Amino acid sequence: MIAGRYAPSPSGRMHLGNLMCCLLAWLSAKSKDGQVLLRIEDLDTQRCPRVFADAIIDDLAWLGLAADGPQLPVYQSERAEIYQRYYDILDRRGLVYPCFCSRSQLHAASAPHRSDGQVVYAGTCRGLTPAEVAERCKIRAPAWRVQVPDETISFTDGHMGMYEENLARDCGDFYLRRADGVFAYQLAVVVDDALMGVTEVVRGSDLLSSTPRQLWLYRELGLTPPTFYHLPLLLAPDGRRLSKRDGDQSLENLRARYSAEEIIGKLAFACGLQATPRPVTPQELAADFDWAKVPKNDIVLPESMF
Ligand code: GLU
Repeated sequence: MIAGRYAPSPSGRMHLGNLMCCLLAWLSAKSKDGQVLLRIEDLDTQRCPRVFADAIIDDLAWLGLAADGPQLPVYQSERAEIYQRYYDILDRRGLVYPCFCSRSQLHAASAPHRSDGQVVYAGTCRGLTPAEVAERCKIRAPAWRVQVPDETISFTDGHMGMYEENLARDCGDFYLRRADGVFAYQLAVVVDDALMGVTEVVRGSDLLSSTPRQLWLYRELGLTPPTFYHLPLLLAPDGRRLSKRDGDQSLENLRARYSAEEIIGKLAFACGLQATPRPVTPQELAADFDWAKVPKNDIVLPESMF
C-alpha cells in the first residue's frame, strides 16, 4: 500500500507553494490507490501555534485534499519520548557530541558555504575533552550534533533523478537536538516517516540536500526509507520565493476570492497538469496524473493568475 504524507510546519496559513506540495503528494499517492497521512511539524511550539495547524486541516478539507488515516494527525510536539529513543541509539554509539558554537561563530568559521547558503560545520567542538565540555556547560547549554562519516550518499529521486552528497564535505556534522532540548527536524522527520509507514515523500526541492543526511539516518537507525519526490519551487511572478509573509497568496485570502476548484485548476495549470487553468477537482486530475508532466525547473506563477 502506498502511503504519502503532508508534513506542514504550521507557522502560518498555507501559501500556494505549500498547496502545490500537498496537491502533488495527494495526486502521487491517489493515482496509485494510496493514502495520504498528515503530520503536523510543530517541533517549535513557539512558532507553530495550534490555530494554524487547525486552519491547515480545514484548508485541506475545503480543497478536497483531506488526509486519510487516523482522525487525529500526528503532532511532532507530542513525540519527544519517541525521538529520544532514536537519539539514544546514536548517542550510545558515541556519535553524538555537544556543540557550544554560537550562530556568529558558525558563520565566522572558515568552513565552506553550501549552495543553499547553509554553513558546512567545521567540526569545531568535535574533539573537546570531558573537562572542556564540563567547563563550557557552566557558561551555556550546548546543542547536540551527530558525527557523519566521509561517505557519499547517492539516491535516485522519483522526480529529479540522481542526486548525491558527501556527508563530511557537503554537509558536516548536523544538529540532532537544539540547546533548549527540542529535537531537530532531521531526526524527527526520519523517525516519523518510518514509524508512520510512509512509503513516499513529496516535498520542495529546498529539502533535496537534506535527503542524503536523512538516508544516512535511516540506515544508522535500522529504518526503511521511503521513495523521495522533490518538486520545483513555486515563485511569485517577480521571481521571488513565496513565503508565508506573502499575504496575497495565503489560503485565507485565496479562499475569499476563489472556489476550491478554481484554485486547484490554476495551480494544476501552473505545474503542467492541465492545458488550461480551468476549474478542476483533485479526483479529475488523479485520473491521468503523471510525474513526467511536472517541470523540474522552478515554476514562476503567471502575472495575472491569482
Ligand atoms: N515541515 C516541512 C515544511 O513544511 C516539510 C518537511 C518535509 O517534507 O520533510 O516545509
